[in-house]
Amino acid sequence: MPGERMALGVDLGATNARVAVVDASGRVRAARRARLGEDRSPEAVTEQVAGLVGPCLDELGLGQDALAGVGVGAAAQVRGASGVIALAPNLGWREVPFGALLAARLGRPVRVLNDLDAIAWGEVRHGAARGLRDVLVVFCGTGIGGGLVLGGRLHSGAGGVAGEIGHVKVRGSDGALCGCGGRGCVEAYLGGKNLSDWLRAVAPGWPALAEVCGGDLSGLHPGCVETLAQRGEARACALWAERGGMLGEVLANAVTLLNPSALVLGGTVLAGAPGLRQEVERVLRARVLAVSGEGLQLLSAALGDDAGLVGAAAHVLEER
Ligand SMILES: [Zn+2]
Repeated sequence: MPGERMALGVDLGATNARVAVVDASGRVRAARRARLGEDRSPEAVTEQVAGLVGPCLDELGLGQDALAGVGVGAAAQVRGASGVIALAPNLGWREVPFGALLAARLGRPVRVLNDLDAIAWGEVRHGAARGLRDVLVVFCGTGIGGGLVLGGRLHSGAGGVAGEIGHVKVRGSDGALCGCGGRGCVEAYLGGKNLSDWLRAVAPGWPALAEVCGGDLSGLHPGCVETLAQRGEARACALWAERGGMLGEVLANAVTLLNPSALVLGGTVLAGAPGLRQEVERVLRARVLAVSGEGLQLLSAALGDDAGLVGAAAHVLEER
């Protein structure tokens, strides 16, 4: 192990932080996770993340200088290479120089990526799309997000916020309100949080749905609709056709625009609802410009919870 190149990957989510020492082959060698404390100030979070690093290094018998650098995947809008988090709604952060804070605390160079960028890079370097140069990665979980690898490079856009596919509009300005403040975004209809909220609102008028969750509406989630759809319940099937069709059309448009060789799909909503995913894929295939969709590989994310950590670490290892 001495001399082996390794980096630290950090996954900074809305409620949890996870750190891992990752080697050049993308393997997680040691990892620690913590629930973020009550104090979500940048200084407190920096301290909490830094506190997870020592035990990982101790487990491997390594010192801090064994790390080539630190890569962070954050559920946030990130200002390019500056390491500044422009907006992290779940942490209540605006214009926080998180990269600089963490670099000062750990004494290692830090690169901050948007979480979907980190996931996309992880899947391209070490996961489902290994070795491919033009890849679109889309996750449908609590929200909907995407990452783009074009010509073998992560494409973050001029302002660092490329890939925000959840906020592509599928309805007009009278459409459902989205967390971004806009209306008619696909995330407003199919993001796990918004969909669950909507299901709770309609459940009183949908006896089969209320029954499938045992009458406890607070526990309703998209998987309940999937259960009904698998039984052939008409309203559930229609809902999946409608909502799955929305995402399928958005993906078809993205593929028509970008002509990737692979589309990697992931996230808890799609993973937990094969019937929904089938609708997404059906509409995608039907609506994409034929020449753009030729040879398109539809893949499932392969790295699970590790994708962001592995991708952020890999990005740092390859940069230096
Ligand atoms: Zn939106």
